[in-house]
Amino acid sequence: MRGVSFLGGRKLQVGEFPDPAPGPYDVVVEIKASGMCGSDLKFYRATGEETAALGLGKLKGPVIAGHEPCGVVAAVGSKVDERTAQIGARVMVHHYSGCGSCQHCRSGWSQMCVAGTTVYGVTAHGGHADYMSVPAHTLVPLPDELSFTTGAAVSCGTGTAYGALRRINLSGADIIAIIGQGPVGLSATQLAATMGARVIALDVSSERLARAKAFGADAVVDPKATDAVAAIKALTHGVGADLTLDTSGAAEGRSTAVKATRPWGTVCFVGEGGEVSLDVSRDLLRKQLTIIGSWTFSKIGQADCARFVADRKIAVDQLFTHRWRLSQAAEAYRIFDRQMEGKGVFEPGASVVCQ
Ligand SMILES: [Zn+2]
Ligand SMILES: [Zn+2]
Repeated sequence: MRGVSFLGGRKLQVGEFPDPAPGPYDVVVEIKASGMCGSDLKFYRATGEETAALGLGKLKGPVIAGHEPCGVVAAVGSKVDERTAQIGARVMVHHYSGCGSCQHCRSGWSQMCVAGTTVYGVTAHGGHADYMSVPAHTLVPLPDELSFTTGAAVSCGTGTAYGALRRINLSGADIIAIIGQGPVGLSATQLAATMGARVIALDVSSERLARAKAFGADAVVDPKATDAVAAIKALTHGVGADLTLDTSGAAEGRSTAVKATRPWGTVCFVGEGGEVSLDVSRDLLRKQLTIIGSWTFSKIGQADCARFVADRKIAVDQLFTHRWRLSQAAEAYRIFDRQMEGKGVFEPGASVVCQ
């Protein structure tokens, strides 16, 4: 089978790998859709020592990328209970696996496993391939109403946005400022608008701001063109947003989130990496602020997100501006790297690919 691996320094290869056979507790998923997530860019761009992250796990040689896998069960291991997986079932993969016994694993948060976690697409083979072998317990059923590409989005970007909005108890009475309108931020805009909140969307790309408007943002702000904190205050009668969500991971984005949140409000960071420096007394204490970090979602949270998207008929597929074959991976990541477009997805088995 084919698989896409990052080589560091914005290079990748589409290589040949042995077709996976399931171990006793594993399943093989035929990949129908494998999404491109903003955090993949970290590994795509990695240079020098960071490239060590490309082979963190036990695997020798290139690791297949992609941590938003969605498809159909193609083979089932001998010890897998039929209630867990059956051939032909439409499934997403919760892209982590841990020891299975610690409190985090048992509550569905295997990415927090005390014994260390396997991250599919980073430390073990991921979804940018024709097939993928995973432990059966990682499967999350894909509701019939949802396409494979929507399932891919729910498997990281959209699921992460949903998890964060639930963590901060977003309601229809809230004004939320969402910083960054990449795949996670744009999903957050779409979900928060569906939940009834008033959304202020921020990004430095005019294309992404236009998309945010189309996805339900009430107002958009370009922090490159204007003072973002002042703009958010002007849009909120001088008070600030009830809630802010930083998806950018940039120091300026995080700082804007903290400063543009009203007293007693809540700030949520989901963007990965980097740092931020804050004036604690002025920016936090005097404002009685709550700041939380939110890291993806549990297996249960992933299923909840899929159910929400299906029941509310949310057009998650509109996130995708680019649909690719595996053989087009180099071009796909070159374009995604510009961070101006919407989300991309690989559809390994698709007979017709339109862009
Ligand atoms: Zn564990
Ligand atoms: Zn991701």
